[in-house]
Amino acid sequence: MKALICGAGIAGLTLGWHLERAGWEVEVVERAAAFRDGGYMIDFYGPGFEVATRMGLRPRLMEVRYPVNELSYVDRAGRQTSHLTLTSGLDQVVSLLRGDLARAIADDVRAPITYGTTVESVEQDAGGVSLRLTDGTSRDVDLLVGADGAHSRVRGLGFGDGTPRYLGHQVAAYIVEDEELSRRVGTRYQMLTEPGLMAGAYALRDGRLALLFLRREPDPALPADPAAALGRHFGHLGWILPDVLSRCPNPPELYYDQVTQVELERWHRGRVVLVGDACQAVSLFAGHGASMAMAAAWVLADELVADGRPGTSGVHGERPSADGDLSVALARYQARMAPRIEEVQRFGRRFVKWMAPSSRWRIGARDLLFRLAALPGGNRLFVNSLSPGGHNLITSRSG
Ligand SMILES: Cc1cc2nc3c(=O)[nH]c(=O)nc-3n(C[C@H](O)[C@H](O)[C@H](O)COP(=O)(O)OP(=O)(O)OC[C@H]3O[C@@H](n4cnc5c(N)ncnc54)[C@H](O)[C@@H]3O)c2cc1C
Repeated sequence: MKALICGAGIAGLTLGWHLERAGWEVEVVERAAAFRDGGYMIDFYGPGFEVATRMGLRPRLMEVRYPVNELSYVDRAGRQTSHLTLTSGLDQVVSLLRGDLARAIADDVRAPITYGTTVESVEQDAGGVSLRLTDGTSRDVDLLVGADGAHSRVRGLGFGDGTPRYLGHQVAAYIVEDEELSRRVGTRYQMLTEPGLMAGAYALRDGRLALLFLRREPDPALPADPAAALGRHFGHLGWILPDVLSRCPNPPELYYDQVTQVELERWHRGRVVLVGDACQAVSLFAGHGASMAMAAAWVLADELVADGRPGTSGVHGERPSADGDLSVALARYQARMAPRIEEVQRFGRRFVKWMAPSSRWRIGARDLLFRLAALPGGNRLFVNSLSPGGHNLITSRSG
């Protein structure tokens, strides 16, 4: 069987890894001109971490992880206003750059990845999918996978619906090199919040600093000059911000996007299927996107590979067809994943008003919560609250 995966991100690479090991012929196309390193810091835990462990990636992730020992809030003068020391559950949560996670998976994927290319057009019938790529070449495959993120082109081509749900915030991230600032911030995640605004910093290896900005904005339209917009909204807030914003790069080194969730009734049409943020984005408020993307890729591969194994049947008792009809496997994939995704999305929406707290009283309430979490047992509760479940996703349907 042949698959073309559009998008060399967390979900696309994980799916490629599994399908090629199951004997599929896999090819990946990626819009970016080169591998997307760096990006932003993510907390990685839950079912995706379980998948990564099964893929043998755990030692590599432990090597590239960053220790986050403390979350701390500062005021405009850089003075700490509240903090939470993280002492328990740290082995369940790995903090790392999104690019380092993607790189760890990519290094173990043998399938060819064509950069600077995407899918231009798609035609399909019961027997297969014919694709034209933007580099002028074409392909005939059994399955086209859209793993191309929340603004998925494949979703736009094959599904005609699924405008992401805008969560009223815009987010930006970039990395600067600055030994002095990096040392000053250290192994804690420092944040400054004002009503509707949040800026965060974390020190990386080699004298670098990862920066994250979150801003409440009712209008989803993105600014024409995102670096200038960041300067306008955050440059007057003091702390390290005037300095780091004066060195803000332009895209693609600057990541700037709306915060969205993607809800779709059907994740597959014929021989085209979506995985990861393309069909299930949960948003940074849920803090689970990369983990759920890996889990979904694993479940999709599990179902595709199960098709044809003796004794397998669909969620409604359908038998998979022996002639390569993938519809039963794709329906089972969605049936297994979608309820978990809805749960995580609901969890994320509850958090929208808290990350860049919408008012001064919320900032006060958050500080109080941090103080409570510092009490005995509070820390463990805090770490447990990170995950609304989903570990049982990673149980092979056949095993
Ligand atoms: C600021 C921020 C913080 C986050 N924090 C966390 C966290 O703490 N924990 C967590 O688990 N998740 C977090 N996430 C979410 C997580 O990063 C995503 O959910 C995850 O990366 C989704 O994986 P994916 O493979 O679907 O998409 P991506 O990893 O975004 O990969 C999509 C790939 O498709 C490529 N692409 C896009 N368009 C096209 C096209 N037309 N053709 C070809 N290729 C294309 C992109 O270049 C990219 O390589 C965070 C997200 C953000 C923005």
